[in-house]
Amino acid sequence: RSRSSVRLEGVDVSETTAVTPEREQELLAKVPTGLLINGEWREATGGKKFTVEDPATGKPLLEIADGTSEDAIAALDAADAAQAAWARTAPRERGEILRRAFDIVTERADDFALLMTLEMGKPLAESRGEVTYGAEFLRWFSEEAVRDYGRYLTTPEGKNKILVQRKPVGPALLITPWNFPLAMATRKVGPALAAGCTAIIKPAKFTPLTTQLFAAVLVEAGVPAGVVNVVSSSSASSISGPLMKDSRLRKVSFTGSTPVGQRLLADAAQNVLRTSMELGGNAPFLVFEDADLDKAVEGAMAAKMRNMGEACTAANRFLVQESVAEEFTQKFAAAMAALKPGRGTESETTVGPLIDGGARKDVHALVTEAVSSGATVATGGDVVEGDGYFYQPTVLANVPNDAEILRNEIFGPVAPVTTFATEEEAIRLANASEYGLASYLYTRDYARMFRVAEQIEFGMVGFNAGVISNAAAPFGGVKQSGLGREGGAEGIDEYTTVQYIGIADP
Ligand code: NAD
Repeated sequence: RSRSSVRLEGVDVSETTAVTPEREQELLAKVPTGLLINGEWREATGGKKFTVEDPATGKPLLEIADGTSEDAIAALDAADAAQAAWARTAPRERGEILRRAFDIVTERADDFALLMTLEMGKPLAESRGEVTYGAEFLRWFSEEAVRDYGRYLTTPEGKNKILVQRKPVGPALLITPWNFPLAMATRKVGPALAAGCTAIIKPAKFTPLTTQLFAAVLVEAGVPAGVVNVVSSSSASSISGPLMKDSRLRKVSFTGSTPVGQRLLADAAQNVLRTSMELGGNAPFLVFEDADLDKAVEGAMAAKMRNMGEACTAANRFLVQESVAEEFTQKFAAAMAALKPGRGTESETTVGPLIDGGARKDVHALVTEAVSSGATVATGGDVVEGDGYFYQPTVLANVPNDAEILRNEIFGPVAPVTTFATEEEAIRLANASEYGLASYLYTRDYARMFRVAEQIEFGMVGFNAGVISNAAAPFGGVKQSGLGREGGAEGIDEYTTVQYIGIADP
């Protein structure tokens, strides 16, 4: 019952099949291990490499080139040299290359899914869901490439004309996190290429392999040399540092934690660089007494347990109206207790490991603090002993409003439940965070939905829906959750700049 409730973009966890060690080795052998610079795969300067591990076993998967500052500059040389020709390439042609990349990623969905499971840990069915979701950014922006509209109008004075056109902003640095290895790359590469920008991708050190394989697909799809470069590295700042000081770089698009985003914004100030910042979240999940409680539990499972809770959109605080709190908590805890932690390649697994030992320690510290400040454990509450970085799916009840766990991004399979009395109080508690990314609202009352949406300070609201990410919708936050939007019609604007031409009447 609970297995089918962890659904992601229509993929059921119970559909997974077993994977042999030979299949894993065959797949790893397909992953390019070099840096992609100017259309060529090369070793890192100095020949250094770093190791990527399987978080379910702690064992090494593959060694890849460890990019240096020198390699980063070589990538920018290539991106800068390719920029003018790529900007002049017909939008239709840019779109068709993206469309081919969509087709290839979709054909090779099994490879991409397994590779993400190996390096990141999520169950295979969730990885398949991410392939569907991530690939869609390539298709969506292949279609948006030809819709980069401008304006032409007469001035209010009736004399002279105003022409407004959009141009690619220029070479962009794309820094991605480890939690959605494919989707975070496609969500940036899709609009950058559609707009006519060249790019340098710096994937997270825990999960670079998916980006490496994706870059090979882009080359195969016909992306010209220098238009997309990949510099994987064990040291992020040795890549971003020199690039952001170089005036040829025109844009940085970052997805990751708020503290790193703040540092990058400060660096970006020097060259007044265009930035997009998709940062952390602390999503409230509001359940009103008129909600369909079974649907709310199903939504809670998806909003909390998608990606083991390692999502910026993950429900982080469950705010439940007093009269239904006990029933909701019991049903939710039962569904969480029925989940099965394990390696994502095994068919019965419904929860993967956390990304590393440090992440698991942080999650457990938040649980311990909540319990010592008065929360009760409805289910879970501890690490899973043995190999890998597993944590028990956990529900905490009666969590006091000042507990650390309600203020911090948990990034793990832990659901703190707290209560509210009135709609007004629910809104006040929901807004009591420096974050403003995703929020969720369960009620049968459409008027309430509009009232709450009006007052809630979040970039995204799920109304009776636990998973709302979609390539056609603008994804992003307010407050310290970031700047800019990815996806939708807005996504491409992040990679364009506006030019106004004032035209005198003849
Ligand atoms: P992170 O900030 O540690 O790392 C993100 C990326 O930045 C990685 O590629 C990392 O190597 C790089 N990085 C780290 N330090 C850097 C530095 N000093 N200079 C330049 N680059 C640096 O985040 P993470 O742990 O990989 O990802 C989890 C975080 O990402 C969470 O806070 C989550 O909420 C957030 N996230 C946000 C969104 C969104 O769209 N808003 C989506 C996914 C994840």
